[in-house]
Amino acid sequence: ISSKQPNIGTTIFTVMSQLAAETGALNLSQGFPNFNCSPKLIELVNHHMKKGMNQYAPMAGIMPLREAIAQKTADLYQLNYHPNDEITIASGCTEVLYAIMTAIIHKGDEVIVFEPAYDSYVPSIELNGGKAVYVTLSPENNFAIDWNLVKSKITDKTKAIILTTPHNPTGKCFTQNNINSLAAITKNTGIFIISDEVYEHIIFDGRKHWSPSMHPELKERTFVCGSFGKTFHTTGWKLGYCLAPKELTAEFRKAHQWITFSCPTPFQYAFADFLKEPDNYLSVTQFYQEKRDKFNNWLKPSRFDWIPAEGSFFQMVSYKKITDEPDYDLAIKWTKEIGVASIPISVFYSEKIDNKILRFCFAKDDEMLEKAAEKLCKL
Ligand code: PMP
Ligand code: GLN
Repeated sequence: ISSKQPNIGTTIFTVMSQLAAETGALNLSQGFPNFNCSPKLIELVNHHMKKGMNQYAPMAGIMPLREAIAQKTADLYQLNYHPNDEITIASGCTEVLYAIMTAIIHKGDEVIVFEPAYDSYVPSIELNGGKAVYVTLSPENNFAIDWNLVKSKITDKTKAIILTTPHNPTGKCFTQNNINSLAAITKNTGIFIISDEVYEHIIFDGRKHWSPSMHPELKERTFVCGSFGKTFHTTGWKLGYCLAPKELTAEFRKAHQWITFSCPTPFQYAFADFLKEPDNYLSVTQFYQEKRDKFNNWLKPSRFDWIPAEGSFFQMVSYKKITDEPDYDLAIKWTKEIGVASIPISVFYSEKIDNKILRFCFAKDDEMLEKAAEKLCKL
């Protein structure tokens, strides 16, 4: 057929995970834990399934879950989102992002994207008739954002700016200064902020999570995108949520209503119960801090160069001292020959810029991380 979507390829995560499975390589490519979620959470799902919570949930999500998210957001950040009309449950952050684009983009609208960018952003913009406008971040200045450059990209077609904190793949986190700069350059513009915060609890070295929703002016036009997959080791359950002021939520729900309508009911009840105990989400910070530190330590004898991730469960490393092969080819080659799968960073750039960097996911058990590091240290 004549494709309506000629530029849409297969995501790198499918490509690399498939190759890892075929070759038996240690899979540090796609971001998912190779260990199980809490048995308590599984019991809760079972409990609610047995109780008969197996029919359609309300379109916006079950109320106890929306209330639990409201409570958590108020407790942690002193931010108020009303469960009635400002919180919506969706099928993972991927759907949240897509539904936002569907809700706000008119044909030809521009969305400013920082690259390297998580790979669903640009297709979600383009499939909804928008155009991605890039702000390119580079390793030379540790992926810092030049806000004057961002400002220079704003036109009368700019509908939104999408950001990620903690960031995938760089592991960088927004600071309060970043939020203030964002507020200053978008003052009186009405530009929406789409803030992907799926790794909000995976943040290291005592850092505080900073969201544009914490700035009173930005909050009015910010969509916060969350996911339970990363926090609770349940990426396969595909449950996430959108926090946004009432008018924005109303538009968001129009799109969500016709993308999935509603999300699996027993999982929502399980999370509603599980969220009542703050340690269930707070403990993930220390858990991944230890994983990052162990993986970084095991890599120490290697010839890679890196700056420890500030957040997320990804560690980027530069392999310049080992070879100058293209990152994509190298990721494939090392999966086959060394037995460790990774993600090449060039795929997250519009022009496939190759900075000779690979991304390793450390959401893996210690045994796998140590084995992988041992192989990588031989290079
Ligand atoms: N945003 C980022 C930055 C991610 O890394 C991911 C997936 N890992 C998603 C969104 C998608 O999240 P979900 O699995 O909840 O759809
Ligand atoms: N977010 C995950 C990653 O960055 C992958 C999610 C997916 O496979 N779609 O690896």
